[in-house]
Amino acid sequence: MTNNVAAFHKRSIEDREGFWAEQASNIDWFAKPEKILDFSNPPFARWYVGGKTNLCHNAVDRHLASRGNQRALVYISTETGQEKIYSYKELHQEVQAMASILKSLGVKRGDRVLIYMPMIAEAIFAMLACARIGAIHSVVFGGFAAPSLAARIDDAQPVVMISADAGMRNGKEVPYKHLVDEACRLAEKPPAKVLLINRGLAPMTNVQGRDVDYAALRKEHLSESVPCEAMLATDPSYILYTSGTTGKPKGVQRDTAGYAVALATSMKAIFDCKPGEVFFCTSDIGWVVGHSYIVYGPLINGSTTIVYEGMPTLPDPGIWWSIVQRFGVSTMFSSPTAARVLKKQDPKFMTQHNTKSLRRLFLAGEPLDEPTAKWISEALGGARIIDNYWQTETGWPIMAAQHGIEDTPTKFGSPSFACYGYDLRLIHESTFEEVGANEKGMLCAVPPLPPGCLQTVWGDDERFVKTYFTSVPGKKYYSTFDYATRDEDGYYFILGRTDDVINVAGHRLGTREIEEAIQVHPNVAEVAVVGVADQLKGQMPLAFCVLKNQAPIQTADGRKAEEKAVMATVDKELGAIARPSRVHFVTLLPKTRSGKLLRRSMQALAEGRDAGDLTTLEDPTALEQIKAALKS
Ligand code: AMP
Repeated sequence: MTNNVAAFHKRSIEDREGFWAEQASNIDWFAKPEKILDFSNPPFARWYVGGKTNLCHNAVDRHLASRGNQRALVYISTETGQEKIYSYKELHQEVQAMASILKSLGVKRGDRVLIYMPMIAEAIFAMLACARIGAIHSVVFGGFAAPSLAARIDDAQPVVMISADAGMRNGKEVPYKHLVDEACRLAEKPPAKVLLINRGLAPMTNVQGRDVDYAALRKEHLSESVPCEAMLATDPSYILYTSGTTGKPKGVQRDTAGYAVALATSMKAIFDCKPGEVFFCTSDIGWVVGHSYIVYGPLINGSTTIVYEGMPTLPDPGIWWSIVQRFGVSTMFSSPTAARVLKKQDPKFMTQHNTKSLRRLFLAGEPLDEPTAKWISEALGGARIIDNYWQTETGWPIMAAQHGIEDTPTKFGSPSFACYGYDLRLIHESTFEEVGANEKGMLCAVPPLPPGCLQTVWGDDERFVKTYFTSVPGKKYYSTFDYATRDEDGYYFILGRTDDVINVAGHRLGTREIEEAIQVHPNVAEVAVVGVADQLKGQMPLAFCVLKNQAPIQTADGRKAEEKAVMATVDKELGAIARPSRVHFVTLLPKTRSGKLLRRSMQALAEGRDAGDLTTLEDPTALEQIKAALKS
């Protein structure tokens, strides 16, 4: 590997095939690829064509000889007080048991398995077991409500769903099973079998013939050995749903070998984490960061991964740093929101633990504000803070400092440079020309996208092309849907989304998705949702509703009750993570003469800014109502 980030990047673009052929040696193959890249049908990129490998083999089996007794997975739940350490050998056994159970339930290569689970070790066994037998997993974040889960079931059509009785949050049980039952009832094509992990947290009523108990089956299957399927490099490994402009979430489809190579390379070049070292990613397996850097990345690298169920503040705000000290964590990955939560606490909680082992803290998922970056960097003493920018679609960082290659200085507010493999362009919104230094542009990438990025949208190639490759006329550029600038030194700064997607505590939500949920409320005629800047969570959804019948909101109490009812509808349809911070009632929404909602103006007013260009506004009184509502 060179020691020059710019040269590494240049080579990755100018000699794509040579570059990625070299990186291919970072993983084990059952059969070497015949061709590094097939880009004969753009924008579809097929990496490592003809090669055969398996994600689970790379994450588990290949380490058995040299690190069988090394810690592979450390499970810590500060919610239940449980802690369990699995060596690579033990992980191998658990994953084979789970794989054998799935096979006994009828799961075959290419079948989908939906994983709707809290942060427990079994969820990771389940993901790896799917990879092992060539089933395609689709992990759905445990915070999503039944209708969201049902929509994902119908899109992925899993043969088996894996779930648990409950998760735990902030010391309280969060029951899952009734949501599973309701989702199966709502879905047109529910799974034939539901495998349930009974944690003993919440009562469950089993559905005869459908529900099966994990503990009982585990006993039966614990000594089974299940070989890794030789998957084609281009076989899909998983589907992960994410929000976009339209209400219907998109199933991001990932391949097998490209993803494995991308993660293995990133562990060296970006994360600079060595085999045997300890990696602690505080995300959830329901998000892409969890897929890549709780499960596959650290394990493919032969590192130890820490799987944590709990809050950053319980039993006290020093909990993460005590984990760093106890397990000698070298590399941590978290979110700016989590850092902001910790910033509000007494600093003694950070300083009372020895965090010397920690070389770097990676933060991603939303903009990292300068005060937070400065604070945490000072509080941690020696550790470097690495802002990195990427998306569910890409599976690994688009931009980051790459200290495994070169120790470049970082700038506050910037995720540094493009990572190798990404040929980035900043395109002017109306002229579609490339912009100059420090000018705002739409952030695009010239395809082919590097290995590890989405292959397509599950079951919808047309949507993949239309959604991502049509923003720049005449060019089939991949659109990130983010605005950015680049300074004279090549450092990028991310300025926010170009579409109607908002980012709440690093969780990506479509405003249309929330609007559709609110519209389920029987008294809602029309609604607009905007993302408003929030000191802690980055952004919060805010709703403006037009009611069919105004009678319920004639009194202050009535208004409150109706606001609560709208919020409860969002909880029920989408999940509490999408709940608006406030619901304002108006009789008219600001629209253009052609009927388009003026979301940007509403957002600007809510953030105390000027409403912007209003030349196309149909009825000015609508905006007055928004202002009055915000004042209230
Ligand atoms: P997700 O697909 O949920 O990971 O969300 C991806 C979106 O989060 C990006 O398109 C950005 O809008 C935002 N994002 C991710 N990382 C960063 C970052 N480091 N700085 C600013 N925004 C980010």
